Amino acid sequence: MPELPEVETTRRGIEPWLVGRRIERLEVRQWRLRWRVPRSLPAKLGGARIHAVARRAKYLLIETDRGTLILHLGMSGSLRVLDAGAPPMIHDHVDLVLDSGRALRFNDPRRFGCLLFTAAEPARHKLLARLAVEPLSDDFSGEALWRRARGRSASIKSFIMDSRIVAGVGNIYASEALFRAGIRPGLAAGRVSRARMTLLVAAIRDVLTEAIGVGGTTLRDYVNASGAPGYFRQRLFVYERTGKPCRRCRTPIRQFTQGQRSTYWCPRCQR
Ligand SMILES: [Zn+2]
Repeated sequence: MPELPEVETTRRGIEPWLVGRRIERLEVRQWRLRWRVPRSLPAKLGGARIHAVARRAKYLLIETDRGTLILHLGMSGSLRVLDAGAPPMIHDHVDLVLDSGRALRFNDPRRFGCLLFTAAEPARHKLLARLAVEPLSDDFSGEALWRRARGRSASIKSFIMDSRIVAGVGNIYASEALFRAGIRPGLAAGRVSRARMTLLVAAIRDVLTEAIGVGGTTLRDYVNASGAPGYFRQRLFVYERTGKPCRRCRTPIRQFTQGQRSTYWCPRCQR
């Protein structure tokens, strides 16, 4: 599943091809995504000028002079920029055809992605209005996170993966950040000290930023969001490394299941 770094990598990959371009037409081959693509969308977007490509959590926001396209990659979605005449392959559901002769093509085998539109301020859209703080913004602080965690018995891992607490920290990055901060994933969120929480916030920022950095190096005009964390995988300390020696202390990495997701940790480095 594309996580925040993959979405940000995608955003950076498509941005230079889109900004300043006029949309010639929107071609929809499959209307039934997670939510039906609005029937009026092609008429609304034809001739619109793109002025920015932004991101909020895992939503891509293609801002035009008519309004904002809200795009989510879902479980399996990806975007590519290619020649508008390139024949569509299976699961290529939508093309945003640009006046440059290129098209932004949305592929999504499982169709959990979505393509919606708002003419209003995107932050007020129902999908975005209730999203929690961005992990890469200054508003995400150890102090604030520590305060939110008071009295919480949920594990610290599920706490930081809760989209009402912080937006877009998925399983890989939660596991890695907890390793770096030296926190046992099963520990109750309310029992993590203020100092540790500050370390954790820094670690979340670091893993996301590093992943975005290496994601960027894999890109040219092709945007890969297949869900594989790209070159970042080579830098993982715990994720999917069950039984392998910890890169820090050589203790075998352990795995357990937490809320239907696999959690990986080093019993020595994370106490
Ligand atoms: Zn270790």
